[in-house]
Amino acid sequence: MSKNRRMISVLGSTGSVGLNTLDVISRHGDSLAVFGLAANSSVDIMLEQCRVHQPRFAVMVQEAAAQELRQRLPDGSVTEVLQGAAGLNKIAADDEVDAVMAAIVGSAGLPSTLAAANAGKVLLLANKESLVMGGHLLMQAVREHGATLLPIDSEHNAIFQCMPVDTNGTPLHAGVSKVLLTASGGPFRTWTSQQMAEATPDQACAHPNWSMGRKISVDSASLMNKGLEFIEACWIFDLRPQQIEVVVHPQSIVHSMVQYVDGSVLAQLGNPDMRTPIAYGLGWPDRLESGVEPLDLVALGRLDFESPDEGRFPCLRLAREAVATGGTAMAVCNAANEVAVEAFLQKTICFTDIPRLIEQTLEQVSIVEPTTLSVVEQADREARQHTTQLISDGASPTMSRGRG
Ligand code: NAD
Ligand code: MG
Repeated sequence: MSKNRRMISVLGSTGSVGLNTLDVISRHGDSLAVFGLAANSSVDIMLEQCRVHQPRFAVMVQEAAAQELRQRLPDGSVTEVLQGAAGLNKIAADDEVDAVMAAIVGSAGLPSTLAAANAGKVLLLANKESLVMGGHLLMQAVREHGATLLPIDSEHNAIFQCMPVDTNGTPLHAGVSKVLLTASGGPFRTWTSQQMAEATPDQACAHPNWSMGRKISVDSASLMNKGLEFIEACWIFDLRPQQIEVVVHPQSIVHSMVQYVDGSVLAQLGNPDMRTPIAYGLGWPDRLESGVEPLDLVALGRLDFESPDEGRFPCLRLAREAVATGGTAMAVCNAANEVAVEAFLQKTICFTDIPRLIEQTLEQVSIVEPTTLSVVEQADREARQHTTQLISDGASPTMSRGRG
């Protein structure tokens, strides 16, 4: 491999963001190369990715999956198979790596995201849960080790593009009064609470504009995705909660906006396709061709905006309250949500139980200062146990267990 190509590791390469990242990388074989790929257990997809991208390392978190991949890679393959957390940390922090795409879903992404920050890498951050859980630790690691954090979540990428930043990508606040965080409103934007109580996982995952993994799709339907993004924006842009306003924009064309003290509002627009923020992160500070269709505003005709309804979508309020509480409340909120979403996807609880379970967990689990990674991980574990217990007790008044 030619040494002047930038070496990229993709954590969560078999997921929605991972696939889009490899699509963009494959358009720039002259300037970008894959150093490492990592996934949980999808051996078939990983095998094909190894054939196409010839990474130096492929990491499978599950041991049996790592063994299977080792057996199925052809003799003489350039790819070495690693396993588990040690493998993730290796490809996140190796000296040869220039940039790390953090696209594992959920809190499982925190240790490897931190490892990339501690190694001073260009950190392309899609894994919002790691920032929600350990925002203090992650931002401190970025500062202390000279890492460059480039947000890949489309809203934060839009804000980043509309905000002045220094040469290391650190946002500067000069003249910024407020951030307008746009939300599509998800598939249940116009549904009543009663209708949502009957929603199936497939209905929740049928997002009107974006094609994404199932966990973030459910988060988009409950607006917890916007709640997590609210917390994410506080950390990345060092904003006070009052400086962030959520605006529902059903077309998902304006990806977010920054308002300045002189009355100017800068917006970033584009088709809803993750390859735009991914290409921006991979090319920064230059621009790369991404394969995304150009935006046709005349064909669109109109862009609508409305206020979110926190009565029907309590997750937004819960995230805001977790920020106000501070400490490990955000990690607890995130962990309770992950457990509740998984239970909903397994049809153990109904959709409207998700916010109830989060609220009860936040009320009942103790909140402490998130001083170290192990304190944050302990809070995550406790919250998971608590929410799991609430589900098995059938604690929520409307909880219907064993739905078919
Ligand atoms: P996905 O479910 O499609 O993919 C998840 C990836 O993580 C897979 O490669 C899987 O193998 C890996 N993974 C799962 N559990 C793991 C574990 N325990 N250890 C290591 N790897 C594990 O998810 P996605 O939609 O690509 O989302 C990834 C992250 O990006 C999430 O944090 C999500 O919130 C964020 N994000 C996604 C989108 C999108 O368009 N999909 C947009 C913005 C932000
Ligand atoms: Mg987003």
